[in-house]
Amino acid sequence: MNGTILALNAGSSSLKFRLYEVEGDKFTLVLRGQFDGVNENPHLSVKEAGGKEICNFDLEIGEHMQEDMLERIFSVIKPYTASRPLQAVGHRVLHGGGRFADPVLLNDEIVEYLETLIPMGPLHQPANLASIKLFRRIRPDLPQVACFDTAFHVNIDERAARYPIPLEYEAKGYRRFGFHGLSYTYIADRLREISEYLVKKRTVVAHLGSGSSMCAMRNGKAIDTTMGLTPLGGLMMGTRSGTVDPGLVLTLMEAENLSPAEIKHMLYYKSGLLGVSGISGDLRVLMASEDPNAKKAIDLFVFRACRELSIMVATMQGMESLVFSAGIGENSPVIRKLICERLAWLGVQLDDEANNANAEIISCPESRVEVRVIPTDEEIVLARQTSRVVSEALAAGQDVAYA
Ligand code: ADP
Repeated sequence: MNGTILALNAGSSSLKFRLYEVEGDKFTLVLRGQFDGVNENPHLSVKEAGGKEICNFDLEIGEHMQEDMLERIFSVIKPYTASRPLQAVGHRVLHGGGRFADPVLLNDEIVEYLETLIPMGPLHQPANLASIKLFRRIRPDLPQVACFDTAFHVNIDERAARYPIPLEYEAKGYRRFGFHGLSYTYIADRLREISEYLVKKRTVVAHLGSGSSMCAMRNGKAIDTTMGLTPLGGLMMGTRSGTVDPGLVLTLMEAENLSPAEIKHMLYYKSGLLGVSGISGDLRVLMASEDPNAKKAIDLFVFRACRELSIMVATMQGMESLVFSAGIGENSPVIRKLICERLAWLGVQLDDEANNANAEIISCPESRVEVRVIPTDEEIVLARQTSRVVSEALAAGQDVAYA
């Protein structure tokens, strides 16, 4: 495929996009942009790949915010696609359910199926689907591809995938899925690129951002992961609780008279670092705070991260390699150190100087576990998957337009 591809990553309060030039299997970043604070104080910033600022301004919050944002994307990319036409759009989609193990060319029937999965991803799935539908309206000629965060985990250990619940619910698809799959795909590819030897090691990848999870991986394949049916399980996160006793939910309903919607709101938006600190879900804010509750929140984050990691190690029956990634994992030597100190029993030994420098390898040579920092790149995975799906469909003589 030759031309450009737009990679779109729609979150609950942000919309990130990147434009790539594609020549065969070579991808070159052209533009990167981001709408932040979509529900409160929308702001748009766009830069060329070389760093030149194209725009950086606040937007009026309007009734048709989503539509407005997509139209702005089209106007920003227009000069860059004049000689390199836009060939396709790749969307990060949170949940592919039991049906999708691979990225897929979208049509109305698939979008309808993806809508049925909204209860399992109330924070992200609606935003993902809203931008797909808007693109269809504005540019029905464009092929659109969904790249799923669940897909990487489709073949995890069968026992890791199951909840011990009655068979009839298992048959209906209530199982553990796992998320952050685009990020894990990128890391698995990087491990293989670094060395064929490295990718064979039993590895835990810690994707620590506003949403956090871990993946137990070997030979570039997922074996277990900390999130389950929804992206609420596993590690404590910015505003999400992570795993709690299911009995807590039932007790809150019965003893506190909370409705399912109220509990959902509490566990997705009011818990995690924000809930425990009472200050913020943003780690940087907590690190800068003198409040003892900020320290307690950070301490609990580290404690629970190590606890979840031990589950990944138990599934793999060992760990020789640990990778930190995403906003916190890539940028916070303090959190990496706190986590690694609690993992000394597994033979993890950090090299403080390398850690403070955010070096590629941050463990000592004598550490039984090699610890790395690998910056993730979900958008390049979106672009690669989108290009592959569209090229294969064209080669098979398929009509690739959405409509
Ligand atoms: P998402 O993409 O899910 O919005 P990110 O991967 O960008 O999230 O991670 C956001 C988190 O990373 C926030 O908690 C933020 O405070 C944290 N973070 C980013 N940079 C740093 C840093 N230099 N030190 C500590 N935490 C950081």
